[in-house]
Amino acid sequence: MSKTIIISNRLPVQLQISDGGLSAIPSVGGLATGMKSVHSGGESLWIGWSGLTDEEIPESLENEIDKALENHGCSKVRLTENDVEGFYFGFSNRTIWPLFHYFLEYSEFELDFWNTYKVVNQKFADAILEQAGDEDIIWVHDYQLMLVPQMVKEKRPNTSIGFFLHIPFPSYEIFRTLPWREEVLQGLLGSDLIGFHTYDYERHFLSSVRRLLGLDVSFNDIYLDNRVIKVDSFPMGIDYKKFRDAAVAHEERKENNKSDLQQKLDNHKASAPDTKLILSIDRLDYSKGIAKRLNAFEYFLNKYPEYKEKVRLIILAVPSRSNVPQYQLLKREIDELVGRINGELSTVNWTPIWYFYRSLPFENLIDLYTSSDIAWLTPLRDGMNLVAKEYVATRTDKTGVLILSEMAGSAYEMNEALLINPNNFEQQADTLKNAITMPKEEQMARNMFLQKRLERYNVEVWANEFMNALHKKSDVEDVNI
Ligand code: UDP
Repeated sequence: MSKTIIISNRLPVQLQISDGGLSAIPSVGGLATGMKSVHSGGESLWIGWSGLTDEEIPESLENEIDKALENHGCSKVRLTENDVEGFYFGFSNRTIWPLFHYFLEYSEFELDFWNTYKVVNQKFADAILEQAGDEDIIWVHDYQLMLVPQMVKEKRPNTSIGFFLHIPFPSYEIFRTLPWREEVLQGLLGSDLIGFHTYDYERHFLSSVRRLLGLDVSFNDIYLDNRVIKVDSFPMGIDYKKFRDAAVAHEERKENNKSDLQQKLDNHKASAPDTKLILSIDRLDYSKGIAKRLNAFEYFLNKYPEYKEKVRLIILAVPSRSNVPQYQLLKREIDELVGRINGELSTVNWTPIWYFYRSLPFENLIDLYTSSDIAWLTPLRDGMNLVAKEYVATRTDKTGVLILSEMAGSAYEMNEALLINPNNFEQQADTLKNAITMPKEEQMARNMFLQKRLERYNVEVWANEFMNALHKKSDVEDVNI
């Protein structure tokens, strides 16, 4: 019987070693949820890095770890500290991440990073080759593993391989600056199906394939040797029901069951009923445009001073990659900006920005989503942006306004949101005013369409559509053979 093998940098379980021994906790992230139907239905295996380096795993626990992972349908790839440094913090996050998000000036083209990336991709490919039979279907995820498809295809030409990129694919003009551009494309072309969030990323990829490799491309098919590689877009959805149900349960909670955060938000609402809460949630990443958003907020308050004391911006910045220098600099910049703006504009009754630098438990995210009148998300580039979708999903009475950057992949499916260019402060100031004054009926009409779409194209549908396209592809090939 054939099985499905999912492969991603991180496994959907988190290992923790403490005095009490070993625990394996399933993660609740979007990818883990979306893949549930693929991972739990029938025979399947998820291969990835456990999050612990070889140096951190005591030999005595090795078997126990393998067993614990096996119980969750997982198998680990072993990585050393050095591997993680060069492959993850190096090539993935200091070369590819900035380049693919159009931060060319942040991209470091270090040969050592690239060499470690190749070595580690080979480790992932070897783990697949060890476990996979010819009939198996393999789904490789994301920019950390772009060489894996070819490494597997070389050894197992009959195996069906799908690849999905969760970040943008940049335009040819950007991509071609990568010293190892041909190798990366060839790595990806080991796949039978390559998926992107949007049609634009798909087009950029096809254009690079045509111009850098000179391959025949017809519509979304690439002809390579005697193979046809399909390229398509599959915009990733959210677990709509989970957010919806959480918001409904949140509404029905008794007073004494409310979180501390919710009680504080309620107190704030009671003391200043006219003040609108504007929310933004992002990982602290330069691609998210947090610093620009803070400047745009100051611009708005100067352009429309009548909203001073009438709005409050809540910034939740989730710590991320904090050992990469660019992220440390950004953290400092944001700390200073928040301090300066609050220092200059605060009054005895009002602090314009509430800034949290931490990650919050799911329950508190729901508190924030459901209590905020406006979500203001301004990434300079974002593969998708799930926060936009989660905010809309939690609005049970359909009120609330989403202001979303047109540079986010999700903007393509969220036309009813107020779409903005994050570099245009004038437009953003006017859009904020529009959001603050938008009649309830208009808010509800917009959210009705958005919610319907989010419910229909949820994350499970996304995973199934990709798998169906991959299956279809392998069926067609069977017929041809
Ligand atoms: N999130 C979280 N904890 C937090 C804040 C956010 O788990 O404290 C989640 C949020 O619910 C969303 C994800 O992090 O699902 C962020 O995904 P998005 O696509 O917006 O951005 P990414 O971080 O993947 O670039």
